[in-house]
Amino acid sequence: MDIKITKTTAPKPIPKDDSKLGFGRVFSDHMFIMPYDRENGWHNAEIKPFGDISLSPAAMVLHYGQEIFEGLKAYRTASGDIQLFRPEKNFERLNVSAKRLVIPEIPVEDAMQALTELVKLDKDWVPHSDGASLYIRPFVFAVDPFVGVRPGDYYYFIIITSPSGPYYSTGLSPVGIYVEENYVRAVKGGMGYTKTGGNYAASLAGQDEAHKQNFSQVLWLDGVERKYVEEVGAMNIFFVIDDEIITPVLEGSVLPGITRISAIELCKKWGYKVTERKISIEEIARAHNGGALKEVFGTGTAAVISPVGVLKWGDNAMTINDDKMGDISKKLYDTLTGIQYSKIPDDMGWVRKIKF
Ligand SMILES: *Cc1c(COP(=O)(O)O)cnc(C)c1O
Repeated sequence: MDIKITKTTAPKPIPKDDSKLGFGRVFSDHMFIMPYDRENGWHNAEIKPFGDISLSPAAMVLHYGQEIFEGLKAYRTASGDIQLFRPEKNFERLNVSAKRLVIPEIPVEDAMQALTELVKLDKDWVPHSDGASLYIRPFVFAVDPFVGVRPGDYYYFIIITSPSGPYYSTGLSPVGIYVEENYVRAVKGGMGYTKTGGNYAASLAGQDEAHKQNFSQVLWLDGVERKYVEEVGAMNIFFVIDDEIITPVLEGSVLPGITRISAIELCKKWGYKVTERKISIEEIARAHNGGALKEVFGTGTAAVISPVGVLKWGDNAMTINDDKMGDISKKLYDTLTGIQYSKIPDDMGWVRKIKF
């Protein structure tokens, strides 16, 4: 794929203090953009200065939400290399989302090339400090100026990048999560397994309720019986009960996280018993009452591993592992971030170094 590159003539100052970056507010100097139409397919790939785009107010995405996205990071190692973590998986998943939302797929190698060229051009925007990274947001949406319901004929594929500090301002201390019993995020047959804005729109009311009650995130239950645990906000969820590590099985309503599958693969390699199955909130409460619930943690690109210290289900506020990070959570966090920043050998072959 040919990519036309136009460099900015007005580079922005690169933030010096990574600890003040936060998440998703600062953007690097350039973006990738590629339009699609029925006649030409994906064409005119371009990297240009980050800036506003122009859309018709009738653009289809604004009315019926035909949009998909991905989220991954570029990490700077101590020796100065810049690298990605299993990025092909993100673009394979983008195409799974594309199919579900009737959006034309993008060849994985073209998406990888776009991403690599963009990160190379904005390499100085990859933060230097531990835990900080360049967050990468690829997304695709329909732009036809048409207020009617059908799949679009015109799309944009855009990649923007954002230097980000460690995800949780409180660091790795456990989070409190709230079990949502009213609202649901997704159902089997819906779009739960895709990364699309619509799933997040569906989650906002529950998230708002959780915040009002001083919990940072929502634990979603299944949409049919409100009984089985699905996932947390933008993370998959794991429970350690006695010596079994359990995570909800993927049946269409749960997002197949890349951190999730990586955690499963590592735990299996370490000899733990890992089970993907249905797990009810009653089973978790019972295990907690009986002292068998050892650890609960979320997995996702943004936070990597997020220990859960308190799980609030109705009137039952369960404190887990004394509100401290557990051993398995810690081992996973250290190993995943160790591999991502090349502090330990990449035995799994997960890292893709960017070649300059
Ligand atoms: C992105 C996302 C995750 C985590 O996936 P990773 O690939 O591990 O980052 C989990 N749940 C939802 C709803 C998500 O959108």
